[in-house]
Amino acid sequence: MSQGSLSRRRFAGALSAALGGALVAPARAARAADVPPAPAPGPRPVVNLSSNENPYGPSPGALEAMTRSQAVAGRYPDEDETRAIEAIARHHGVAPERVVLGCGSGEILRLCDAAFLGPGRTVISAEPTFEAVLLYAKVTKAEAVKVPLTPDHRHDLAAMAAACDQRTGLVYVCNPNNPTGTIVSAEEMRGFLARVPRTAVVLVDEAYHHFVESPSYSSVVDWIPEHPNLVVTRTFSKVYGMAGMRLGYAVATEENAKALQAQASWSNANAAVLAAAVASLEDPTLVARQKQRLNGTRRRLVAELLRDERRIIPSETNFVMIHVGRDVQPVVDAFKERGIRVGRRFAAMPDWLRVTVGTPEETDAFLAALREIVPARASA
Ligand code: PMP
Repeated sequence: MSQGSLSRRRFAGALSAALGGALVAPARAARAADVPPAPAPGPRPVVNLSSNENPYGPSPGALEAMTRSQAVAGRYPDEDETRAIEAIARHHGVAPERVVLGCGSGEILRLCDAAFLGPGRTVISAEPTFEAVLLYAKVTKAEAVKVPLTPDHRHDLAAMAAACDQRTGLVYVCNPNNPTGTIVSAEEMRGFLARVPRTAVVLVDEAYHHFVESPSYSSVVDWIPEHPNLVVTRTFSKVYGMAGMRLGYAVATEENAKALQAQASWSNANAAVLAAAVASLEDPTLVARQKQRLNGTRRRLVAELLRDERRIIPSETNFVMIHVGRDVQPVVDAFKERGIRVGRRFAAMPDWLRVTVGTPEETDAFLAALREIVPARASA
């Protein structure tokens, strides 16, 4: 310890004694006086482009609804839950009995594993894809069958259908797929559903649904009556900007919804997020606004990457996969040193970097750092 800091501490101690301890416990003293303490010097700001969140956060209407929910914070949110389920059901034109809420759609994925898997059963998924279903499946002791993506980084639906048999409890189709940002077209999905045995539940994860622009794509929520083995998940974490608040849901047949609900814990969503969800669904322009600005920034990001002549995977989501031409881990670490968090390394695509679309400023910071860390010619 330096002489300077020692003497500063002694001085502070003496002063503190004189002031009755106020200096050594500034936070406590400030609380006593009902004055907010000065903010502690925090870590330097981080540009977070690692988890496919929405940098703009909840809509003003959702924030207002959360604030209003303070009035009911002391009560269990039974009625709020009913209101949110009804709003989601109305949004999709289905009966409320067909909607199941989760603490994020991540919880819904776990409920699916718990309801439809177990020892001796198989779960079929793409590789790479969002891994939660496979991680939770391990707990049920089901066997995971991972089917590599096609050379153009899309679900290999023919191989996934061929991997199904009577033991298959669940087939997971992440559409659009995380981490590749690619989609399964409506036509491909129809052909696939015709081939998968009806005894297997097809879990379609539509977390990034709202960002898709391709006319060949369709949500499958409306297909459930025709394909009762479909379970569809959605989330408020992405386009609605509420990842920190935790709310997702499933739409399924009434029978499958009951099977999922049986695995859920009671009151798994808080009053604030339930109110914010209703406000978000009732905002007629929210999705279009967010989609327009995030997809607009993605287009600009992609144009810059292509100008650098980098290989990318065309994305229908709020993230992009970029080829870096070498193992991505040191690249991820180099971004971290510059205060920028990017997606983690995916074992099946070790030389690709996933970056989330941020604000225009965050995206510019990412591009500048990328050009330093992986000069354009090095990534081809
Ligand atoms: N599905 C996919 C495809 C995801 O990428 C994520 C989160 N990144 C989730 C589900 C889970 O999100 P949440 O629990 O916040 O709804």
